[in-house]
Amino acid sequence: MRLKIVQAGEPVLRQRAKVVTASEIRGREIQDLIEWMRETMYDAPGVGLAAPQVGVSLQIAVIEDKPEYTKDASSQTLKERERKPVPFHVIINPQITIPEGSRVDFFEGCLSLNGFTAVVPRAPKVKVQCLDHKGAARVIEASGWYARILQHEIDHLQGALYIDRMYPRTFMAMENFNRHWKEKPMTEVRGLLGFER
Ligand code: ZN
Repeated sequence: MRLKIVQAGEPVLRQRAKVVTASEIRGREIQDLIEWMRETMYDAPGVGLAAPQVGVSLQIAVIEDKPEYTKDASSQTLKERERKPVPFHVIINPQITIPEGSRVDFFEGCLSLNGFTAVVPRAPKVKVQCLDHKGAARVIEASGWYARILQHEIDHLQGALYIDRMYPRTFMAMENFNRHWKEKPMTEVRGLLGFER
């Protein structure tokens, strides 16, 4: 079943989502929700979807970066972003550890800010402790684009959106991103848009 993805301004996107117990995770309701979130993410399409984005204030997100999503991207772009396929998985009640220090800047989009994108600084590496789709404890050590996806989705579960972290001068319509910025290296984007940390 395809769920409705809510857009910025919907109060649920600004709430801290509720923790889910291991026995709730194994129940029919949450198992159905996970399946429907998966179908909704594929349909969008997107590389991640958090429960608040479908109007459910629970600490659940689904993630998958399929090879087909990047088939038209240049190897230069993929290398710069450290983007590699990530198999489907579910994170529940995540606790993220974000190291101090370096940040990497790339354009990022969100299904709840449909049609827009902006440059967002993110940590290049993160550690996440969470439960999986069966309620089992997991530790994820991620880097590159996958680390960015995790930070974005976990922000959703805390009521945050990328617009809270973006460089405001880089906010733009996706149409213009595709027209003017998509293929440019970030050093050039930084020079032209004049944004600084
Ligand atoms: Zn999002």
